Amino acid sequence: MKAYNAYDNFLAVMDKAATTLGLAENDYVALRYPERELKVSCPVKMDDGSIKVFEGYRVQHSSVRGPCKGGIRYHEEVDDNEVKALAAWMSFKCAVANIPYGGAKGGIKVNPQELSLGELERLTRRFTSMIAPIIGPERDIPAPDVNTNAQIMGWIMDTYSVQKGFASPGVVTGKPLEIGGSKGRAEATGRGVMFATVMLLEKLDIDVKNCKIAVQGMGNVGSIAAKLLYDRGAKIVAVSDVSGGVYDENGLPFDEIYAHVSQRRLLSDYKNDNLKRISNKELLTCDCDVLVPAALQNQITTENAADIKAKYIIEGANGPVSVDADEILEKNGVIVVPDILANSGGVVVSYFEWVQNLQCFYWEEDHVNELLKNNITSSFNEVWELSKEYKTSMRLAAYMVALKRIVAVRNIRGICP
Ligand code: NAD
Repeated sequence: MKAYNAYDNFLAVMDKAATTLGLAENDYVALRYPERELKVSCPVKMDDGSIKVFEGYRVQHSSVRGPCKGGIRYHEEVDDNEVKALAAWMSFKCAVANIPYGGAKGGIKVNPQELSLGELERLTRRFTSMIAPIIGPERDIPAPDVNTNAQIMGWIMDTYSVQKGFASPGVVTGKPLEIGGSKGRAEATGRGVMFATVMLLEKLDIDVKNCKIAVQGMGNVGSIAAKLLYDRGAKIVAVSDVSGGVYDENGLPFDEIYAHVSQRRLLSDYKNDNLKRISNKELLTCDCDVLVPAALQNQITTENAADIKAKYIIEGANGPVSVDADEILEKNGVIVVPDILANSGGVVVSYFEWVQNLQCFYWEEDHVNELLKNNITSSFNEVWELSKEYKTSMRLAAYMVALKRIVAVRNIRGICP
């Protein structure tokens, strides 16, 4: 089997979308390459006095539609190819959501669980200093991703602000409320996943209350999405995290599980003898109607795609389905709501946070949630209708919506010089 390459996955779908739209190569060839790639080595003084050097990246894929935007991931498998792909997906996600941003992504190759809080802070501050020349509220605005959170965004904001000599809250989103975060941001990606799920089911005339849902990943995205779907009456039959999962065909006691994972505790520490223990692999192919992969990329591949029992997949994670697996799912009639649409809630509310920072004027949570719902509803409808018009998957339609927008701006702006 060919080794998984996230950026090749991006290129394959973009090329197909461009061909389906009948674009000339000149219209989109620049999007095959990230605009700027920065690799940094971050020396950090560890608690035992030794110096350890961590590798970090910031990739700006496109600034055609506005400042680059995208999260920062702390994970031991982070590499330049993964960050490049995540940056490109951000350009397309922001274009689908029709918010005035390009795309970027960052990451540090580290297992943050192995660091003390002090080491984590020093690493974050050093990384921020090293990418500071290319970030900023008008240039490139980071946000949380896997293993990064509001506190880490706070350290990024502080380090950048100290370098500038004034408070600059708009340099990063997903911050704590006290330093310019937005109400509703912490829940935004999961809330968007919930909206995308409900909208798909409504299009198909299915009541969410009759649905069995399985969610991989009990972090920021997966736990909130599962909680909001559970609150709407869905049966959450399986959930998992890095330590494995639990399953009950009659529905899990999700309030209890949510309280457990909200304390950042692993599911392996959740004790309930009535539930069946399953692996992450088993979760993906369990008996359910809706599957929400909300952990990492490349989870549904040619190895397991044919065994997926869910009829609908809502991509909470970025890139959880490989291109080859997509073909198998499509053949089997599985509808996939793609990442660049399904998990766009996070970047949409990040955009609202940045707007509030620039205006120094803060909004109520209901207002944020209503604007988020309006945004996802219109992008969902646009993608849905294009997929019907061209008889394509929702993924291809979402890329087509994004490409049309980016290419239109590129053609108006032209190429300088
Ligand atoms: P997180 O760090 O809060 O949670 C990640 C979850 O995945 C944890 O429960 C972890 O235990 C689990 N996990 C890690 N490795 C796993 C493995 N090998 N198998 C199964 N589970 C595993 O991260 P998050 O912010 O919830 O991000 C999850 C996904 O959503 C990522 O793909 C991320 O890029 C994407 N995403 C996040 C946001 C956001 O706002 N946080 C926005 C858009 C997309």
